[in-house]
Amino acid sequence: MNENSHGHQYIDGVYRVGAGGTFPHVNPATGKEAESIDYASVEDVDDAVQAAAAAFPAWAKLTPGERSEHMLKFAAVLSLNADRLAELETAQTGKTTRMSNEFDVPGTIDNVNFFAGAARQLQGLAAGDYAGNSTSMIRREPLGVIGSIAPWNYPLQMAAWKILPAIAAGNTIVLKPSELTPGTSLLFAEFAAEAGIPKGVINVVVGSGREVGEALVKHPLVKMSSFTGSTAVGRRIMEMASETGKRVHLELGGKAPLVVFKDADVEAAAHGAVAGSTINAGQDCTAATRAYVHSSLFEIFTARVAELMESMVVGDPLDEDTDMGSLISEAHRSKVASMVQGAVDAGATIVAGGCAPELPGYFYRPTLIIGAEQDSEIVQDEVFGPVLVALPFETEDEAIALANDSAFGLAASAWTKDVNLAMRAAAEIEAGCVWINEHIPMASEMPHGGYKSSGFGKDMSTYSFEDYTNVKHVLLSHDTSAHKEWQNTVFR
Ligand code: NAD
Repeated sequence: MNENSHGHQYIDGVYRVGAGGTFPHVNPATGKEAESIDYASVEDVDDAVQAAAAAFPAWAKLTPGERSEHMLKFAAVLSLNADRLAELETAQTGKTTRMSNEFDVPGTIDNVNFFAGAARQLQGLAAGDYAGNSTSMIRREPLGVIGSIAPWNYPLQMAAWKILPAIAAGNTIVLKPSELTPGTSLLFAEFAAEAGIPKGVINVVVGSGREVGEALVKHPLVKMSSFTGSTAVGRRIMEMASETGKRVHLELGGKAPLVVFKDADVEAAAHGAVAGSTINAGQDCTAATRAYVHSSLFEIFTARVAELMESMVVGDPLDEDTDMGSLISEAHRSKVASMVQGAVDAGATIVAGGCAPELPGYFYRPTLIIGAEQDSEIVQDEVFGPVLVALPFETEDEAIALANDSAFGLAASAWTKDVNLAMRAAAEIEAGCVWINEHIPMASEMPHGGYKSSGFGKDMSTYSFEDYTNVKHVLLSHDTSAHKEWQNTVFR
């Protein structure tokens, strides 16, 4: 996966073979074994944390302008290597080259450029004479070593979302990407070093969650655990982090509703629903998964969604004409298929897809389901595949209640031409992002993060600095007299 490297651990600016054993890696689009990946041992994790701790004082002391300059050079090196990154991203995930080339890699480079600028905007909001006869000011200080753990669905972008705010704020980092997709995270760290970011600032350890992930979370020198992944593992991380009392940042699962009101442009909503539910083969935490459609539009909407889904080309991710690549693994495809079967067994109907094409990799057709119950597994639980469930509603209140009837709260969309209704929906839907007449687009400048069981903390945007910095109040007294007036309250 990292064809030029000697091993899959990137520690203190050097590749090494991890001492935790070697495991086969399968290309999900072909089902064939592609290479073997070495895993880190607990000692390798410790070495990586020590390297990050050693690099921290010098990196934290750089001026924001100096850190920014490093990051601008980093963006330039990534741009020069965009094709290589995109090729590897597709090889390890099975996503289409179209996605890797036009979404993952440019999005990552834009994020690096954004944080190069944001590094220079680390100011606090309050400065002034609040305590009387003094000036109060805010210092934003880095925490130290950040331990980050990332999932497999957008390996490059997830590495970027975790690494960039951390280092822009002056922290150093050890990242554990998913063991299924470590390649582009390793390349990302290697390119950072090539751009001049000092060794030890970004380290990558590869291995299983149970061993390598847990060792990273439990390490006493790690000041914050920043995690993107499933809600179940997020809860386990919170529990482990409590043992050392460290800060946690959790970006967890989602089950995004897409609400189509009576006055919506139904054609636009159908396109938005198909793109929003099949992006990255549905393996997207913000993917549209529950379409609540006004009963007057239900038939036309579901017919159009089914038609668009059936027209999608599923298969070889390297083919420019392919719309949807493979799922990440055979095990994951089985989980998706069994949840769809469970919905049918419970009385739902498949209107499109619901099957795997006859191809060697782990593909699954875009799928539309109707007739499911609101409290059923397919409506409530994360499928993380290209599966959309559509349910009708009658009133605005009912639509909002159904959208909010979920343990998750990461993202949602509302489709309407009525600006007042749009703003009511935006206010009332419990989610970290509400799109109006859209579903999916994000921007480096805007925060991403959840409500409810989707976690807390923000990726991207300057809001991420709230997580990756300590805010310190510094008060400078203007009164140099020995006994100050306020001290009379304490002693005279
Ligand atoms: P996962 O929780 O199984 O694994 C995520 C990472 O955690 C992997 O690197 C894994 O090795 C590690 N891990 C597993 N067990 C661990 C443990 N006990 N201790 C420490 N680390 C451990 O998730 P996944 O299957 O890789 O990714 C899919 C999930 O990620 C979905 O639930 C999806 O919604 C979520 N996700 C959320 C966001 C977001 O921004 N909220 C973005 C992408 C994916």
